[in-house]
Amino acid sequence: MPTTIENVVIVGTGCAGLTAAIYTARANLNPLVLEGSLPGGQLTTTSEVENFPGFPHGVDGFQLTQNMREQSTRFGTRFEQGLVTSVDFKSHPLQLILADRVILAKSVIIATGASPRMTGIPGEKELYGGKGVTTCATCDGAFYRKMEVAVLGGGDSAAEEALFLTRFASKVYLVHRRDSLRASKIMSDRAVAHEKIQMVWDSIPVEVLGVKEGSVSGLKVKNVKTGAESVLPVKGVFVAIGHTPNTGPFTPAIDVDEGGYIKSVAGSQVQTNIPGVYVAGDCSDHVYRQAITAAGLGCQAAIEAERWLSEHGA
Ligand code: NAP
Repeated sequence: MPTTIENVVIVGTGCAGLTAAIYTARANLNPLVLEGSLPGGQLTTTSEVENFPGFPHGVDGFQLTQNMREQSTRFGTRFEQGLVTSVDFKSHPLQLILADRVILAKSVIIATGASPRMTGIPGEKELYGGKGVTTCATCDGAFYRKMEVAVLGGGDSAAEEALFLTRFASKVYLVHRRDSLRASKIMSDRAVAHEKIQMVWDSIPVEVLGVKEGSVSGLKVKNVKTGAESVLPVKGVFVAIGHTPNTGPFTPAIDVDEGGYIKSVAGSQVQTNIPGVYVAGDCSDHVYRQAITAAGLGCQAAIEAERWLSEHGA
C-alpha cells in the first residue's frame, strides 16, 4: 500500500479532466491526472471544432486538448498513464485500484468520458481496426481517397463524419434508421445538401461484407419500411451511433443511472453520492455532451474538490 496520499486525482484527460486539472493546479493542489487509452478524449477524434468560444475560425480538436494540457502542466499538474480497474470508496483515503498499483486520494474527479457504441452486426467486429470498420473519420478518412464509404447514424456525429469524409471519398452513404436526422439543423442541412452525400433513409445496417477477404467489400442494409435488402458497394464503414459512458470501474461504489451515466446528488451537477468524489463531462452528461459543457463541469468539479479539501484538510 502506498504511503503518499494525493490531494486530488483526476481520472481522464478530455476537456472535463483537463479543465479540472487547470483549476486544481492553479489552486496549488498539485493534481495527479490519470491518462487512459484515449489521451485527450473524444475531441482528439474530431476535426474542426467550430463552436468552442474564443476561436472565431475554429480550432483542431487535437490542438485544443493539447493547449489545455500545456496550460495545466504550467501550473504543476502531473500526468501518469494508468487505467483504473476498480475503486474502494468505503472510507478515506479513497482508493483507486490500477492493474499495477493502488493510488490513495483525499478527493477524486471522475472525467472518464464515453466510448463509441457499435451496432453488433455480423462483420463489424471482425473488420474493425484497419480492415475498413472504424469509429473515427478524422483518424481514418484519408485512407478512403476516391472510394465509396458508409456512415451509420443520424446524429451530429454521423453528419459531421459524413461531411468530413467528403474531402476524401468519392461518395458517402449516410445510413439512418429513420427519415430525418437527429443532428442539429445546420449539420443536417449541410449533410443532406452535399453533392457527395447520399442519404439512405429508413435503413438499418444488417451485415458488413468482406470478412473472408479480410477487408470491407460492402455493407448490406435493410429498408425498415419495405423490408428490401441491398448492398452498398463501400470499402469503409464509419460507425457513429452514439456512446457508452466509461463508468464500469466506479460501480457499484458510485451511483449510476440506467444508462450507466454517473448520477450527481440533488442540487449539484458534479457531486456524486460519495463525499470528496466529483464527476465531470460525458460520463455523467448525456444531454449536452459538448466540449464547452464538459469544460464547465470540469471547472465546477475542481472548485467543489477545492472546497472539500479546505474543509477536510488538504
Ligand atoms: P446521438 O445524438 O445519440 O445520435 C446517435 C444516432 O445513432 C441517432 O441518430 C440514432 O438513431 C442512431 N442509432 C443509435 N443506435 C443505433 C443502432 N443500433 N443502429 C442504427 N442507428 C443507431 O449521438 P452523437 O451523434 O454521437 O451525438 C452525441 C451528442 O454530441 C449530441 O448531443 C450531439 O449534438 C453532440 N455532438 C455535437 C457535435 C458538434 O456540435 N459539432 C458533433 C458531434 C456530436 P435515432 O435518431 O433513431 O435515435
